[in-house]
Parts: sequence; structure tokens; C-alpha cells
Amino acid sequence: MSSIDDAVKRAIVSSRQPRDHDSRLRRVAARRHAGQGLGYLDRVAREREGAERRSRGLAPFGTVPATTSARMSAQKRTNTTPEMLLRKQLHAKGLRYRVNMPIPGLPRRRADITFTRAKLAVFVDGCFWHRCPTHATDPATRGEWWRQKLDGNVARDRETDEHLRRLGWSVLRFWEHEDMEQAARVVAAAVSRSDR
Ligand SMILES: [Zn+2]
Repeated sequence: MSSIDDAVKRAIVSSRQPRDHDSRLRRVAARRHAGQGLGYLDRVAREREGAERRSRGLAPFGTVPATTSARMSAQKRTNTTPEMLLRKQLHAKGLRYRVNMPIPGLPRRRADITFTRAKLAVFVDGCFWHRCPTHATDPATRGEWWRQKLDGNVARDRETDEHLRRLGWSVLRFWEHEDMEQAARVVAAAVSRSDR
């Protein structure tokens, strides 16, 4: 086929396409780039299964190192059910707090629930990710990699605690398996102590 035929063919093909063809392609590409294109439902299903497995203290299904940090930050951003429950209890007690406050001096680290006037930071730690003594599990596959990852989480937690205490803050941590009504009572008592 000559290059002229080629050019004519291209012109015919492009005239058949809807006027917004290019912008539609750009939108699809942008959605794919944002991870919302093809495979989006798969991703949602996998994340749901992962959350379900984590709540049972298991390693999330299909997790691989390359995507884990993205998943972990997604997990951190998500309002986990026990934390939501605690917040609801605190709110019912008339307490007001900040959620996910960035920790000054520690880039990319946030405190789950903070009472700034009382200088009190509250964390609800996931049993799998933060190694609860009752429910901690070491995944059978990639055991060494997971051990290092989870040890790193625990070390960061201790570093965060120490950092906050140096800034004059109190730190309360609860496991996600704990009774959040009881946790709310502990938090409320700490806040009222700081008022005296
Ligand atoms: Zn636990």
C-alpha cells in the first residue's frame, strides 16, 4: 500500500471516530494511571479480602512487596472499624478530637486520634500490622521479609511514642481487638486528668 493510500485510510478511519475520541482516550489513560481503569473491581475485591484476612489476623492475600507500602498507607488512611467505634464512643462522651493529625517532626507519620489541648495521642493498632501479642502471626510464605516488615512497624511505633513524649505528649495505644467502650473510658479519664 502506498503512503498516500495509507494517509487516505487514516483520514477515513479518523473521520469515523467520534469527535471526542482523543479526549476519551486521555480520560481512560488518566483513570488507568490512577489505578481505576481495567482491573479496578479486581483491586477492590482483593482489598476487601485483604481487610477481611487482616481482621482475622492473617496476612492479606496476594500481597507482594512492590505493592505493600501502597496497601499499608491505604490501610492507614482507611478508618478501621475499631477506631471508628472508639471515635463514636468518645464523641458520645462529649469529647472532641482531631483525626489523623500529622506528627510534628516525623514526616509521613500520623496519630489516629489526638486531643491537642490535653496533648494526648491515641492509637488503635491493628493486631497483624503492629504485632499484637495475642494475635500476631508470621506469614508462612516470604517469612523473613514479613518478619522484617512487621518488626519495622513495631520499631516505628516505639519511635513515635518516644518522639511524642519528648514533645510533652502522652500516648495511649489500644489493640484493635480490645473493648472500645473500655478504651473510651480510659481516654476520657486521661483527658479529664489533663484538665486539672
Ligand atoms: Zn489482637
